[in-house]
Amino acid sequence: MPGSAIATWNGASQPMTPRDQRLALLLDEIWRAHFADIPRPNELVVGFGFPWKWRLGRIRMSLDARISEITLNGLLDRPEVPCEIYIAIMAHEIVHYAQGFASPLPRAQRHAHAHGAVSRELAQRGLGATELLLHEWGEHVWPRLRAQAMVERQQARRQPLVPVPCTARANVV
Ligand SMILES: [Zn+2]
Repeated sequence: MPGSAIATWNGASQPMTPRDQRLALLLDEIWRAHFADIPRPNELVVGFGFPWKWRLGRIRMSLDARISEITLNGLLDRPEVPCEIYIAIMAHEIVHYAQGFASPLPRAQRHAHAHGAVSRELAQRGLGATELLLHEWGEHVWPRLRAQAMVERQQARRQPLVPVPCTARANVV
């Protein structure tokens, strides 16, 4: 049974937000439902990260191979983004992990996206519909949402800083 993905890449330097924690729980659910046969030989962490211009998600592994990190574009941290979109992005990145990219597992093929390897694996694991949904959403909804999120971010930056009250750090395992 793989350990739970309760942590973020930033570790102690940046406590996990409740929304990151939600992602971690969701990731574990996806794993249990669709990837239960895949071992998790290192620590897998997940969280919202950099507001990339177009990229929705990414997986990378630390140099010492102890941690693999799935990052979702920070601009997706909005209530209008349906949970299914998080599932679709994470499922795509988990397939990379399962196929040995950004993970200690053996590589299934030379290039991560060669010959539709990700789509095929998603379909085999009953996640083909999530990929289609993400594709549609990425084309028709995301550009507008992204523009709106960028404007709000810029406006927020102009606000004076308000001290944030301390909160207890979430359990990290
Ligand atoms: Zn990919």
